[in-house]
Amino acid sequence: MAYDQNNIFAKILRGEIPCVKVFEDDNTLAFMDVMPQAQGHVLIIPKEPAESLLDLSAEGAAAVIATTQRVARAVKKALDAPGIYVMQLNGTPAGQTVFHVHFHVIPRDVSVPLKPHGGGVVDAKVLETVAVRIRGSM
Ligand code: AMP
Repeated sequence: MAYDQNNIFAKILRGEIPCVKVFEDDNTLAFMDVMPQAQGHVLIIPKEPAESLLDLSAEGAAAVIATTQRVARAVKKALDAPGIYVMQLNGTPAGQTVFHVHFHVIPRDVSVPLKPHGGGVVDAKVLETVAVRIRGSM
């Protein structure tokens, strides 16, 4: 399948729809998931157009994993998370719903059940209060 330039993350990268940004550099962007599975759920994407990890260049993969590690450390510190779950889905059968490759960073605490994937939307103002803490820990 050809990369769809109109997928929602491509629109975020072009600034056509808003996101609650956590971090950006020349090759990657990190922003709050609008349907967080836990407080502090962040998505990390490469700027390179690639549907899945299998389509991404080695350079793009190196850049996105470096930012994922950086964001994971910041999320752990900001939210005092006992654990960090890193999730990455490739293809519809694996559960991928947005076809621009992305990594999920999700804080985990055994006493807090993980919310469903693609559950309820959280208001941008609420996400921003969490993003401020994460940005301050980077
Ligand atoms: P996946 O199922 O791995 O493709 O995950 C896609 C993720 O994107 C889900 O966790 C959604 O909640 C999230 N998502 C969808 N649209 C947006 C958006 N506009 N801004 C931020 N996150 C989004």
